[in-house]
Amino acid sequence: MSNKPIVTRFAPSPTGFMHIGGVRTALFAWLWARKNKGTFILRIEDTDKEREVAGSIEHIQKSLSWLGIDWDYGPDKPGSFGSCIQSQRLDTYREYAHKLIEKGLAYPDPYTQEEIDAFRKQAEAEKRPFLYRDHRPKEVAEAGYKATWDGIKPLRLKVPEIKRCKWHDIVRGDLEAGEEALDDFILIKADGYPTYNFAHIIDDLNMGVTHILRGDEFISSTPRFLSLYEALGITPPQFATLPPILRDDRTKKLGKRDGAKDILEYRAEGFLPDAMVNFLALIGWNPGGTEEIMDGRELMAQFSLEKIQKSGGAFNEEKLLWMNKNYLAKLSDGEFLKLAQDFLPKNLTDKNAGNENKIVKLLPLIREKIQVFSEIPELFAPAGELSFINALPAYEKKSLIWKKEKDAANVAVHINSVIKTLETMGDTDGAFSAEKIKAAIWPYAESITADAGGRGSVLWPMRYALSGKEKSPDPFIMASVLGKDETLRRLRQAV
Ligand code: GLU
Repeated sequence: MSNKPIVTRFAPSPTGFMHIGGVRTALFAWLWARKNKGTFILRIEDTDKEREVAGSIEHIQKSLSWLGIDWDYGPDKPGSFGSCIQSQRLDTYREYAHKLIEKGLAYPDPYTQEEIDAFRKQAEAEKRPFLYRDHRPKEVAEAGYKATWDGIKPLRLKVPEIKRCKWHDIVRGDLEAGEEALDDFILIKADGYPTYNFAHIIDDLNMGVTHILRGDEFISSTPRFLSLYEALGITPPQFATLPPILRDDRTKKLGKRDGAKDILEYRAEGFLPDAMVNFLALIGWNPGGTEEIMDGRELMAQFSLEKIQKSGGAFNEEKLLWMNKNYLAKLSDGEFLKLAQDFLPKNLTDKNAGNENKIVKLLPLIREKIQVFSEIPELFAPAGELSFINALPAYEKKSLIWKKEKDAANVAVHINSVIKTLETMGDTDGAFSAEKIKAAIWPYAESITADAGGRGSVLWPMRYALSGKEKSPDPFIMASVLGKDETLRRLRQAV
């Protein structure tokens, strides 16, 4: 490998939101640059004005920033090569267009749309592929040809040599394509903007890009790119083609309907950026070994282009949730609470209502139950396991009876005994803690013999009386969160 400093780029078109695929490309290019202490460029490819969606550039920047992907040059940071926004580099493309004209390797397209359509039809009728180069005007084909260009007609490349193409891709290995892959493609369109095919090559050259990481949809165009590199007399950067991201069932590429959603939606749902980065890095790349939880630093240490896989990587939302839970577990209680704020019920986050202790007591339950913050509201919704904090739903009397209880009359006896015990306790947070409540109730619960139903005969009605539900948390935690008064109120109501 040469000692040239590594330069990679992510070159999105501002045509809408950033989805998983785009972000993964950016991540890999960024990891490769950062790992090698190289340069990472964010370049905006906005030469197709019809497809442009307002706000996309900001959206792209916001998405990358959320994930910690930073750029050395970008739409907000031009370099010595000028702007990173293609529509602001039109002069550069024209300059190179003229270089090609000088070399006799570009010509204005003389045909009208109707004429081109007729050529195409004729090729179809003769069952041969339609190629522009079959229709080069006579003079273009002549030796020593040099065009005059009014700057208005579309400009086409005159492919320097029609031949079979071979090239190397770091991921895919040696690739080749036949002559039919070469054609006189458009460099500058009638609207004055360059095509992607032309602009990205000039930019990569001027920006010193050493490695192009991009999706496999560009493989079929690579012969054309190579013919342009040849026409310009430059050595192409190295290519690394990323594998497609597939649906979880691997039957086809992940589409919008399968969850290829806007990356910022994941942020809105409360996924952690570190989890997202870890998850994306493992789609189509694997350092070997079985460890899957790798933070940013670890990823950077391990990342290599050689370990990018050829075949598609599946997008598995379950795995993302699992990964997110792993990263949630790394947060301190304080960090967790801060990030969870927006998802918690308002009545619990309102500090004036003396809720701080409540939420701290509930925290272990919340942390245990969720994989992502967006699951929190469900926990507190009327059907949720933590809804006891907001309200006690109406329930049927018989629900209070433990399934092993033989004598229904015992239920009131047990609850009354619990009430009596709790009445003797203090009502401050310290005195009415889950541990202390448990210590006070446990001996009595344990004293119920197995043939009389066992400790469940006490704990079940206590839990039901506090929550009004079959599925609810530990009764001691519930009691401590509710506080002494509310706990006694609910128990008395049960009696
Ligand atoms: N603008 C192209 C795209 O959005 C970039 C392809 C490349 O990385 O060269 O797909």
